[in-house]
Amino acid sequence: MTETNNPKIAIVTGGSRGIGRSIVQTLADNGMRVYFNYSSPDDSDARQTQADVEKKGGFCQGFQVDILKQDDVQAFFKSVLKQTGAIHVLVNNAGITRDGLLPMMSEKQWDQVIDVNLRGAYLCTKAVLKPMIRQRWGRIIAISSIVGISGNAGQSNYAAAKAGLIGFTKSVAQEMASRQITANVVAPGFIQTQMTDDLNNTQQEQLLSRIPMKRMGTPEDISAVVRFLSSDDAGYITGQVIRVCGGLSM
Ligand code: NAP
Repeated sequence: MTETNNPKIAIVTGGSRGIGRSIVQTLADNGMRVYFNYSSPDDSDARQTQADVEKKGGFCQGFQVDILKQDDVQAFFKSVLKQTGAIHVLVNNAGITRDGLLPMMSEKQWDQVIDVNLRGAYLCTKAVLKPMIRQRWGRIIAISSIVGISGNAGQSNYAAAKAGLIGFTKSVAQEMASRQITANVVAPGFIQTQMTDDLNNTQQEQLLSRIPMKRMGTPEDISAVVRFLSSDDAGYITGQVIRVCGGLSM
């Protein structure tokens, strides 16, 4: 797909760094015009994403839109649609962790994680369905986690949100299949990003000993699967959960 040949339009939530940045880069490398959001007032990460993409001749644009703010999210999707006339791909990637054992977990920790990881995906998915139905083509991809399948001590909020994202995406898949709109989930294991930087050496060693492939994943391990799921070649795949975790969860 090239830009002159009606490029597809993709929206990636949380595209300023980590896995999201790699997804933005990969989709742009594939000829898509990519729009992404992030929430922090410091836009240096977003500018870096944009610079990386432009260096390789691609197009992307970042917007500071907090996924928790419903009106801002709706305005973001409206403005992209006004500019482009179409939205072909949505990647629900934005996510946070606020870990703690349940007896110590505050309501704020619980609500923040559910709101960003799950409610955010609801808001964004709802915003793209009408244009996708009109086009009779769409790709919705959620970045969940293997923790949403297995659970994880200290992450009951995150595991609940990520499990919810799987149920949500499978339901969208069933509602939209007849319109040629697919919805799938990628469930990463442990991927080297800021989210996992907090693990100390002992935690990292313990983790690596449990991963059959003996390494953490890279953002590119995830974006390669997103690229495939967003392509025409993946048109008969919907409602699936694809684990990308070096064999940690089978
Ligand atoms: P990351 O490096 O922390 O990046 C998270 C991205 O989400 C950033 O762009 C961040 O931008 C954005 N974001 C966070 N809160 C937001 C909000 N309220 N509104 C809009 N954007 C927001 O995380 P990552 O490791 O790349 O993770 C990406 C996704 O993969 C997440 O859903 C995560 O749960 C999932 N995942 C990660 C791993 C892993 O090992 N890293 C494993 C399994 C699943 P701002 O900070 O500017 O808001």
